[in-house]
Parts: sequence; C-alpha cells; structure tokens
Amino acid sequence: MISIAQPLVNKKEKELVLEVMDSGMLASGSYVNNFSKNFADFIGCDYGAAVSSGTTALHTALLAAGIGEGDKVITTPFTFIASSNSILYTGAEPVFVDIKEDSYNIDPEKIEAALKKDPDIKALLIVHLFGLSCDMDKIMELVEKYDLILIEDCAQAHGAEFDGKKVGSFGDLSTFSFYPTKNMTTGEGGIVLTNQEELHQKAAKIINHGQSKKYSHDILGYNFRMTNLAAAIGLAQLEKLAAFNQKRIENGEFFNQNLADLDWLTIPSKAANKKHVYHQYTLRVKDRADFASYLSENGVGNSIHYPSAVTQQPYYKKLGYGELSFEVTEKVAAEIISIPVHPALSNEELQKIVDLIKAYK
Ligand SMILES: *Cc1c(COP(=O)(O)O)cnc(C)c1O
Repeated sequence: MISIAQPLVNKKEKELVLEVMDSGMLASGSYVNNFSKNFADFIGCDYGAAVSSGTTALHTALLAAGIGEGDKVITTPFTFIASSNSILYTGAEPVFVDIKEDSYNIDPEKIEAALKKDPDIKALLIVHLFGLSCDMDKIMELVEKYDLILIEDCAQAHGAEFDGKKVGSFGDLSTFSFYPTKNMTTGEGGIVLTNQEELHQKAAKIINHGQSKKYSHDILGYNFRMTNLAAAIGLAQLEKLAAFNQKRIENGEFFNQNLADLDWLTIPSKAANKKHVYHQYTLRVKDRADFASYLSENGVGNSIHYPSAVTQQPYYKKLGYGELSFEVTEKVAAEIISIPVHPALSNEELQKIVDLIKAYK
C-alpha cells in the first residue's frame, strides 16, 4: 500500500532526541527555545511560542488576541474541526463563510458580505487549506477596512507563499501544527507566531499557566507547552522542511502534468502569485466512492479531506449550525479526494499512481 502520509525521520532526529534524554531536560529547555526562534525566523516573524499541538496553538492565539465570550469570529466551514473548535473553546461564536470553488479557501467577497450584515464581527480566522494560500491581498484590505484581528491557521501550509511572502507572516497571530502528517513534524506539536511583542508575551503566559514569575499567576492559563523532546525532532525537521516542500511541489507538478487532460477529474488550482506546498494533493471526481475503492483495492492510499462542512458535524448540529447551507463547500465536500503526495514517494510509486488513475475510465 502506498500510504497517504508518511513522516520522514532519521538519524538527525534520533541524535537530537538522545541529546535531550542525556541532558535530563525532558520538558522545557533550550531545544524548545531554539526551535521557537528558528521556526519564527523561517516564516519571517519576530516571535514564536512552541506549544503542544496545532489545536492548542489556535486556542492560545485567540486568547492572546483577547477573543472571548460575546465575540464573533469569521472562519471557513471547509477545514479540520480544530479551526472552529478553538473559537468555541474561548466562548466566542464562529461565523461561517463559504469557500471559493477554485482554491477551496474562504471567499473574501463572502467575508465582506458577512461583515456588512454584522458589524460586530471582531476577528478573522483564515485557513490556508491543503498548502495553498488564501487571497491575502483581498483579505488584508478587509482587515484594514473593517479593523479586524487576523489569525492565520497555517497547519497545512508551512512555507506556502503569497506574492513571495510566507503565510503566517500576514496576521496579528498565526499558528502551525507539527502533527506527523503535516509538512514537518515534532510528533504532536504546534507554534504561535507574531510580530507583536505584547501578543507574544501574552501567548507565552497563556501556555504556561498564566505565570508571570515563578508561582505568580495573573491570568487563567494552561499547560500547552511543547517538550524539549518534541522540539529536538522539530529542529532536525525544520532543516529539511525546504527540501520536503520542494519534493511535494515536484510530486504535485508531476500529477498536474499527467492528470490535467483527464476530463472526468479536476486537479488543484494554481496561481502565479501563490507558492503551493501541497500538504494534500486533492482531486475532484463525481463518482468518488467508486474511485476511492478502486484506488484502495489497487494499493493506493487515499483520504477525504473533508467529507462535509464542519457545520454538519453532530456537535455543531446540536449547537444549531446544521440549518446553515454552504453551497460551494457542500459541492466540493461531495467530490474531493486526496492522493499521496508526501516526500517519501518514489518515482515508481508516483508513476504507479498516475497509471492507475489514467486506467480508471
Ligand atoms: C491539523 C490541523 C489542525 C490541528 O492541529 P493538531 O496539531 O492536530 O492539533 C488545525 N487546523 C488545521 C487546518 C489542521 O489541518
């Protein structure tokens, strides 16, 4: 079976993890500090606070931005559930806005329509889905015009760019995940980035039980800290991230070239001013269930990101979001399917995937 995702860890990760074990500093320590700084540098941000997951990163970013009960935050219904769950954690209310059919990312025109309808909306939590940037020119215009807080969920977009600038460097705060299926990993892990010192100080406090100095806790905080062990893996992975992304892009381009002519499927969209880092390579096919079985039966891993709008999840239905309809999300969710694009794929595997897909119809 060609797996849909495969983390690549080897000698360097093991060496650094052993160093941490030998140091006795298993929890906090210099590896966490170095990783935070190096990752922030890579994205082009001044400050980084490494945390335990992409989810705790989102929760922290929203809290640091002052989002809480009574606030409304615009986000996309076509994402992993953590994006909108993090809004719920703070007591705020997610306001869902539909996506664009080409990019699968939140539609700036629909954001503006929502803002006109409800001037109370305080923040935007955007998601750069599958490794492709949102339309940052239009989004930054809206942020200015409506004086919004911007948080970027970059859990799938480490190294993705818009107009040559990395995503994660546009918002007041941005978050990344280092789960093993992402473009780089720390096992479980995440980070909150910002250019604003005050927001960084607040985030650093939130993830460490609201502690300002030893055993003095001036806000309600959490234990969301990253471990030194995880950061050791991250330091080794970060050195390889550019090469991992390059291989993902080559794999994605190989599929683009070989699959573009098939009229029964849709390949991912591209834009000259966006660097796509192919966290997922997604196709759209009308008879998806049959196509998915065909791939699985022939040894090609595949996965559906995501089978429905977040608002159709049982918990969200209970909250009353089930009545809302999102035309584009629903259409895309019924047809989308991801195939393997990760950097561990061999040329033979890439060719096998292409040959199989071409032989389907
Ligand atoms: C993976 C992911 C998260 C959550 O990250 P975890 O590290 O799994 O908590 C959040 N948002 C998106 C879009 C993701 O893909």
